[in-house]
Amino acid sequence: MIAAGRSASPASTLLRLTRDRPRPPAGERCEMCAEPIGESHPHVVNLDSRALMCGCRACYLLFTDENAELRYRAVPERYLYFAGLTVDGRAWDELQIPVGLAFLFRNSVQDRMVAFYPGPAGATESELPLDAWASVVESSPELAVLRPDVEALLIRRTAEGEGSCHLVPIDACYELVGQLRRLWRGFDGGTEARGAMDGFFARVADRSRPAAGIGAP
Ligand SMILES: [Zn+2]
Ligand SMILES: [Zn+2]
Repeated sequence: MIAAGRSASPASTLLRLTRDRPRPPAGERCEMCAEPIGESHPHVVNLDSRALMCGCRACYLLFTDENAELRYRAVPERYLYFAGLTVDGRAWDELQIPVGLAFLFRNSVQDRMVAFYPGPAGATESELPLDAWASVVESSPELAVLRPDVEALLIRRTAEGEGSCHLVPIDACYELVGQLRRLWRGFDGGTEARGAMDGFFARVADRSRPAAGIGAP
């Protein structure tokens, strides 16, 4: 028998490749052109896989045209606050969100609104019909500024039973979800997860400007 076949098995080839070329830590290089990037860098969404890709500024700018027929979309960096928008108890009850916070975004591939909330397993999609949300969105023309796939509405239930509503970049949602998954304890997340949520909301509040006066695209 000739031994060449054995040494070239896919597993050994893969092992050699991973050994010779260690994958750079996430965020070190642009995932499109391999240019080195800093710790703070923009992201691009792959519309098919929903994955986030780390990018350099030049690659990011290729995907900022939201009307282009592309598989990739640049994640905007704006944060907005909808002062006039309150989320009433009925809408909350319909969502049945256990942790008092949810992200909603429009999935343009599936042409529908999607709601998800963080938990011990990462992001869980709400399986419930979003009828109450459809009426919230219809009665709130200012929500039309939300860009599909790359921006989310972040809603948080307050102690009074109502809620606040911000528009945030989708990569900020992913970051919070990842952080909470690591910290989550018990049913409601525990003290550390609560602390992380409070810190996140403080940063969101800090960066947000009022949505009033921003025209629809
Ligand atoms: Zn690049
Ligand atoms: Zn990144």
